[in-house]
Amino acid sequence: MRPNLHPRLVNGRFGDPGLFVEMLHRREALLFDLGDLSPLSTRDLLRVGHVFVTHMHMDHFIGFDALLRVSVGRQKTIRMVGPRGFADRVHHKLLAYEWDLVDRYEADLVFETTEMLAHKRTRRARFRFKRAFAREDLDEAEAPDGIVAAGDGFTVHASLLEHHGPCLGFAVAEPEHANVWKVRLTERGLPTGPWLQALKRAVGQGRSGDWPIALPDGTNVPLGRLRDLVTLSEGQKIAYVTDVGDTPANRAAIVRLARGADLMFIEASFAASDADRARARAHLTTRAAGEIARTAGVRRVEPFHFSPRYEGEEARLLAEVEGAFRGEA
Ligand SMILES: [Zn+2]
Ligand SMILES: [Zn+2]
Repeated sequence: MRPNLHPRLVNGRFGDPGLFVEMLHRREALLFDLGDLSPLSTRDLLRVGHVFVTHMHMDHFIGFDALLRVSVGRQKTIRMVGPRGFADRVHHKLLAYEWDLVDRYEADLVFETTEMLAHKRTRRARFRFKRAFAREDLDEAEAPDGIVAAGDGFTVHASLLEHHGPCLGFAVAEPEHANVWKVRLTERGLPTGPWLQALKRAVGQGRSGDWPIALPDGTNVPLGRLRDLVTLSEGQKIAYVTDVGDTPANRAAIVRLARGADLMFIEASFAASDADRARARAHLTTRAAGEIARTAGVRRVEPFHFSPRYEGEEARLLAEVEGAFRGEA
């Protein structure tokens, strides 16, 4: 199956954290963390519709200005998710500039923030360009299953983790894919067309065998006789976790969040031999990152946020992560 989600680290494994995720056949892109965004083109930045910020340390948030700059003057809503205190920090950033010329623009730029206050509890606020980014408080709500954002073809789950303060881990998942067997369709002399959407939907929703499906000629056929035309396959899942202490609670929450992911981006700031340093800074070692990815049963692990102290030692760090991931450590 061709993957629909295409992630890339904005600044490689040593630079500021940032993960740009493109979706096949869709204009919108997702951005995880807002470190230095200068490697992204204006075109890339203009595609960002959802932003997910783990926490507001500078290396994860300084890129907000770059996103703001290209977005001003555009008709656009950017939805942003972060931990408690996020809306205030976004507001402070917006207040750093003079917005006296807003009347000259027709287009309104809207930032909508969702803060994860506690496990599955969120609060939203809105900041509109046309109102000089005055804060508008929206609702507090439950977030079932920790879902903090959903759009065309994706859902994002968040988990509340612990760094020096609260820090969010994220996982983006696609819905199941329903595929039609074209060969079987032809064998039965059935046409293609919009009716297949209804068939795929009925299979995806697990309807019973007598559920009626309307064929293009107007006849109804029970789903049970058509079900073998459709196969369901799992969508892709990508986890993104960074700036977390190696504690039992964090490990358990990360494993729950990332379970079965196709790809896991996870910080590995320190070498295995520098565990004391990692503990003091509430970061993971290469070994911890590999072990967590292994326990979560992910298919592939992509470590990042390597400390600059290991510049030139990338191969060693990667080998340490991979060793722990394979259970060799
Ligand atoms: Zn960091
Ligand atoms: Zn941090």
